[in-house]
Amino acid sequence: MPDDTTIGRILVIVAHPDDVDFGVAGTVAAWTDAGIEVIYCIVTDGDAGGSDASMSRADMAVLRRTEQIAAAKCVGVSDVRFLGYPDGRVEASIDLRKDLARVIRQVRPDRVSCPSPERNYARMPASHPDHRAVGSAALDAVYPDARNPFAFPELAAEGLEPWTVHEVWITGGPELNRFVDITETFDRKIAALRAHESQTGHMDDLPGMLRGWLSRSAEMGGLPKGRLAEAFQVIEIR
Ligand SMILES: [Zn+2]
Repeated sequence: MPDDTTIGRILVIVAHPDDVDFGVAGTVAAWTDAGIEVIYCIVTDGDAGGSDASMSRADMAVLRRTEQIAAAKCVGVSDVRFLGYPDGRVEASIDLRKDLARVIRQVRPDRVSCPSPERNYARMPASHPDHRAVGSAALDAVYPDARNPFAFPELAAEGLEPWTVHEVWITGGPELNRFVDITETFDRKIAALRAHESQTGHMDDLPGMLRGWLSRSAEMGGLPKGRLAEAFQVIEIR
């Protein structure tokens, strides 16, 4: 399995603005510190999020894109791509597979991160239907769509060559096998989450809540007491 010193580019695929920051921003900060280029692909604009009924959903979509771009900057990411699918109604469709395969062929990442397509009964919010749909389509896009020269001939017609990704880091699923110590990047993860003002502005003790989650992950991974971790299921695809 490739280690971080051999990795040049990582593509992080998520369903909603803020998913990346709740799930993996601490790890992303460590990756960009190590000189790895990280690109985000956000499938929806999060237009069904927030609690402000006076704001139009179109305005909410614009706001959430702006917040995500600001959050990305906190952890060293400047390339954020939005696919504009409707929030709350994502399906693992052929169109979504093709759109994700297109991004994979454009970015040519050494590693992809995506949500788990499996329902996690112990952590239902992680198993939002959009997360599961995006996870399923992302894994199909990694294997076989992006690497198969005969999948989606329209991508080849766009000049996009097949691209093989060998490693996927899956978040939010029931099976975890990698625990990344993010104690040193925790403050930047919190700054990224704070950038999603429309979602986190009302959370009085955001750092405390995150510390609780992340220290449980660290404990699960056998890290020393007081450390914080983000957890993944890392899979290899030959
Ligand atoms: Zn989400």
